[in-house]
Amino acid sequence: MRKVAIYGKGGIGKSTTTQNTVAGLAEMGKKVMVVGCDPKADSTRLLLGGLAQRSVLDTLREEGEDVDLGDLRLSGFAETLCVESGGPEPGVGCAGRGIITSINMLESLGAYDDKYGLDYVFYDVLGDVVCGGFAMPIREGKAQEIYIVCSGEMMAMYAANNICKGIMKFAQSGGVRLGGLICNSRNVDNEKEMIAEFAKLLGTHMIYFVPRDNDVQRAEINRKTVIEWKPGCPQAQEYRNLAQAIDLNDMFVVPTPISQAQLESLLMDFGLLDAA
Ligand code: ADP
Ligand code: MG
Repeated sequence: MRKVAIYGKGGIGKSTTTQNTVAGLAEMGKKVMVVGCDPKADSTRLLLGGLAQRSVLDTLREEGEDVDLGDLRLSGFAETLCVESGGPEPGVGCAGRGIITSINMLESLGAYDDKYGLDYVFYDVLGDVVCGGFAMPIREGKAQEIYIVCSGEMMAMYAANNICKGIMKFAQSGGVRLGGLICNSRNVDNEKEMIAEFAKLLGTHMIYFVPRDNDVQRAEINRKTVIEWKPGCPQAQEYRNLAQAIDLNDMFVVPTPISQAQLESLLMDFGLLDAA
């Protein structure tokens, strides 16, 4: 079983990319569980057809500890298994701790047991690692393989670099490795080349470049992944390619974060190419 965590700046496209990639893996016949690790609890909406799933933390708060796996995990598109960790009540408690509470609960209810034949677990993790809590899935060894979603926008790259700092710290003591950057395009100038170079500086690779496409919004309005909503469209194929790339990936590294000055010169080199 591969335990994969998806990180990246808020709004960059983690949940969308995760669910579409998972749909691609499921189509390939892989058995996948998705665990949303964002208090927003919107990591499984597209796989569940918009169904509002009660989060693990809410269920524990309302029902106490005596819960069944079936209360916490629903079946979604192509037999994917969907969980939302949820979060603490706003302003109270550490969201990272909440995530670990949910994962521990899933473990004790046997959610990872061999009988489910899981090939993959995907953790869709909130934001950057400013609050140590969000590094929890890495720190506690719950995820072994990280992908960072970013774009050619400066703050997305800044967040990706910070996440690499977090991964580096825990990779030195544990087994967690960076599997690559997923560039989710924002149509920035020379974006593909710049992120490929950024990845190289970080000691990793750009595992896939996902184009920006309004079919993503159209599918989202229909509460579906692009793969389910319009299987024949070009964007669906992009997500299948990304799923394939992750399935075949064999590059797992301890990243080498770069300095702010290096990041800025990278942006200058690529961002101003066309202005010259
Ligand atoms: P995150 O989980 O990182 O906060 P989301 O997955 O919720 O981000 O994505 C934010 C918005 O960006 C969503 O409304 C989604 O439709 C849009 N989006 C993500 N990826 C793409 C893409 N490749 N093309 C067009 N829109 C996208
Ligand atoms: Mg999200």
